[in-house]
Amino acid sequence: MMTEAAIEKENKEIAQQYKELLRISYQSLTDDDKKLIRSAFDTAVDAHKEQRRKSGEAYIFHPIAVAKIVASEIGLDAVSIASALLHDVVEDTEYTLDDIERMFGETVARIVDGLTKIAHLKKDMNISQQAENFRKMLLTLNDDIRVIIIKIADRYHNMLTMDSMPEHKQVKIASETLYIYAPLAHRIGLYNIKTELEDLSLKYTEPNVYRDISDKIEETKEEQQAYIDAFTGTIQNSLDREGLDYIIKGRMKSIYSIRRKMKVQNVPFEQIYDKFAIRVIYKSDRPNEKFLAWKIYSIVTDNFTPNPVRLRDWISSPKSTGYEALHITVMGPKGKWVEVQIRSERMHEIAEKGYAAHFKYKHGDQKEQGIEIWLNRLQEALENANTNAVDFVEEFKLNLYSKEIFVFTPQGELKSLPKGATPLDFSFNIHTEVGMRTRGAKVNGKLVPLNTVLHSGDQVEIITSEQARPNQNWLDYATTARARAKIKSSLREEKKNVALEGKEILRRKLKSQKITLNEDTINKMVVFFKLKTSLDLFYRVGIGAIDNQRLKDFAATYNNAFISFFKNKIRRNPVPKEIDKEEITAKYNLLVFGGEEEKLPYILSQCCNPIPGDDVFGFVSVNEGIKVHSKNCPNAISLQSNYAYRIISAKWIDSSQQEFSSEITLSGIDNLGIVSEITDIISGNMHVNMRSINFTTDGGTFSGKITVVVKNNATLKKLVDNLKRINGIDKVTRI
Ligand code: MN
Repeated sequence: MMTEAAIEKENKEIAQQYKELLRISYQSLTDDDKKLIRSAFDTAVDAHKEQRRKSGEAYIFHPIAVAKIVASEIGLDAVSIASALLHDVVEDTEYTLDDIERMFGETVARIVDGLTKIAHLKKDMNISQQAENFRKMLLTLNDDIRVIIIKIADRYHNMLTMDSMPEHKQVKIASETLYIYAPLAHRIGLYNIKTELEDLSLKYTEPNVYRDISDKIEETKEEQQAYIDAFTGTIQNSLDREGLDYIIKGRMKSIYSIRRKMKVQNVPFEQIYDKFAIRVIYKSDRPNEKFLAWKIYSIVTDNFTPNPVRLRDWISSPKSTGYEALHITVMGPKGKWVEVQIRSERMHEIAEKGYAAHFKYKHGDQKEQGIEIWLNRLQEALENANTNAVDFVEEFKLNLYSKEIFVFTPQGELKSLPKGATPLDFSFNIHTEVGMRTRGAKVNGKLVPLNTVLHSGDQVEIITSEQARPNQNWLDYATTARARAKIKSSLREEKKNVALEGKEILRRKLKSQKITLNEDTINKMVVFFKLKTSLDLFYRVGIGAIDNQRLKDFAATYNNAFISFFKNKIRRNPVPKEIDKEEITAKYNLLVFGGEEEKLPYILSQCCNPIPGDDVFGFVSVNEGIKVHSKNCPNAISLQSNYAYRIISAKWIDSSQQEFSSEITLSGIDNLGIVSEITDIISGNMHVNMRSINFTTDGGTFSGKITVVVKNNATLKKLVDNLKRINGIDKVTRI
């Protein structure tokens, strides 16, 4: 138990901290701002009054500290400061989000909600915590970027006060910070916080390395100062002569970045030469800023040889974070390369604080709006991370994730997949059974081809069906070894089954043409269809790749069976009964060809002189195009028997009764049953004739064009409505 005196003292300290918070705010605060912050402070104090941190101090010191980072180091507005004070209230105490909204309005409530969500999302334990946290970050991008900034401040303070934690937790939190928070802070332009986060992380992940390097930095301080003095001494006179108002300082590289260089170059501390940069910070009004930067550049390079490939002009084109400066690397004193950063005071402040400072300068009295613009820009930069690819790679070390992407299930669960993965990979990643039954996929709510490349943050929904099963194309769509192996083995199995069925189909079809399926016919067919094995043959028949027409072509070459086949055919086409010839001739005045009833150029043959209304067929002649013969023509039998493949069906129709044809396009998920479902609906349910049907598939989606013939518009409309109802159909339109 704490003594009353101790409690008294603590309360004083809390009040002290509060005053400090207001005092150090980077933005100037209005009376309303102060009221909001005061109210948030009171609420947070009350909410956390029973809580203590691991270190034993009152919990409220933590939200206050986070609010101070937000107010001062990052320089955000009153809404952010209030939200920071309240950031753990809903998560840890009796207060609800509704309370917050009632008391502080919608914006604060939304930000606190985002922060609470981050804390809550902790379910799937088999996913690495790091990836999980990355996901949380991504999820909150849709809310308000202030959520992320306050979360970074929260993490920063936790890192600063991690000593009282058990060691294994320290290491875990530190690695997570390195993996997620430091790159994010960098991306947002919070360079100082990023550096702090990295150094603090190293302190816990590799304490010995950290201590070793920080000791050595301490030891070399004098040496470093001497170097800076030598540098300054060389250019001072020239700078002064130009009347410049400036300071020159050394900026030690962070412990973490020195560590990284040692690792990459595989050298000890002593051999890292660019351990620090020199900064020339100068005073300037806005119009002369750039000009002065280049003047200083000129003076520096007059005295020290620049490395031409190490020039970075972030003044002419600032980084997306708002960073501006001129960076050069020169051969400095003692023949050592040193980086020189030339910045105005304004640029320096932006470098320290990001856009918050930028807009302080730019907008002055429109500060409110300035912050909004900044937040929006940051949000955009984070969302369209590849708007500036070079900047992106350099800034946000997302290449950490470059071999992996993170996508979500519809339930918001995270799945990690290799880069380049497709919805089909995702599907097999969930479960083999899901993979096998994949019919289609939606990414972010939109139907996409199965070979669409997924990106981090995509939400992927797999549409399955009992009838769906892998097909050959899937091997082009899947990139993961797991999915491909499953598909291949399923295809092998499938092929055997299909072939077995195909063999029976073939036996039946040949039988109807008086050919017996035996080894001899099988061999002849394998040769005829240019295949390798009988399995290929049966399989092709099974999947319908060898259709009736091609079987007939084969039969046509298979002499003996041929005539009987033909006789069959004739028997099925009875001679029309006697009707009034003249009437028919007048009425059936239009000759059309083929299943699609196309109008084609033709000539009537001399041998039988068919007249309108006669039963006729077309014969595709070599020189004269289509010649139309009567089915009773004496030549018909020999033509049909010897040149079956040149016969085209033909009929006379009543041109006045012609129905109108219409084209319908459809798109949706490609699956085995869908074509027959479509044709069933068209020909089965209604008074509709189908003229043509044409489907193309792409990555598991299909698009089709159907020409139908209908008598009126109402029928057509009903047809379209019915088609839309087919499971798997995405879109149906009339052209
Ligand atoms: Mn916290």
